[in-house]
Amino acid sequence: MKKRMIFVGPPGAGKGSQAKILSEALNIPHISTGDMFRMHLKNQTPLGLLAKSYTDQGLLVPDSVTNDMVKERLNQDDVKNGFILDGYPRNPNQAEYLDQLLGSLEWQIDVVLNVTSEDDIIIKRITGRRTCPVCGAIYHIDNHPPKVEGICDNDGSPLVQRKDDTEETVKRRLSVYNEETFPLIAYYQNKGLLIDVDGNRELSSITKDILEILGA
Ligand code: AMP
Ligand code: ZN
Repeated sequence: MKKRMIFVGPPGAGKGSQAKILSEALNIPHISTGDMFRMHLKNQTPLGLLAKSYTDQGLLVPDSVTNDMVKERLNQDDVKNGFILDGYPRNPNQAEYLDQLLGSLEWQIDVVLNVTSEDDIIIKRITGRRTCPVCGAIYHIDNHPPKVEGICDNDGSPLVQRKDDTEETVKRRLSVYNEETFPLIAYYQNKGLLIDVDGNRELSSITKDILEILGA
């Protein structure tokens, strides 16, 4: 079964939701560099404060900072049985760094899942997104509302909108994706690792497809 995977694709295509579901289903860690930066910010670490100046604008955090953080994460024990990278790598330089890092650990990526969607759908999805600051659950005001408006189903916490989920910043993130991240599609296609997954469907049917791709 394929257990070392990368999610690529534009922001808001549903990578994070799928990565979370799979992480629980397969019992392997979900490594989201975006979540890691947000956690650092919540804890007011120097790394978090540095990252904030980029994330707030929808720009990429510098590669050296991001690569170091991922290196440290992939050296922890819980990734030995597999991992789900979500939002990393985000440009060709990070992809090359990851190849070297995995090479030194004597690992290989099994599959790269390219979750696709269109810009207008993405903008609707992201601007309607609300998250739970406590458990990380993701909701959508129209497509996947919580039982009680503005409140997490799991723990009753008030939901929040990410600061970079406003329309203006989403547009910036989409153009950053097109310029910096999109070349990774060809990069992984050339390695024979890329599989497209249509993100414009029910979460559960996307998950079903992915589990099949993984051979789970
Ligand atoms: P995400 O939650 O994946 O949409 O990431 C939120 C923000 O964190 C991005 O808009 C970037 O500012 C930053 N970020 C996340 N992953 C990376 C990465 N691999 N390289 C650089 N910046 C990143
Ligand atoms: Zn919650």
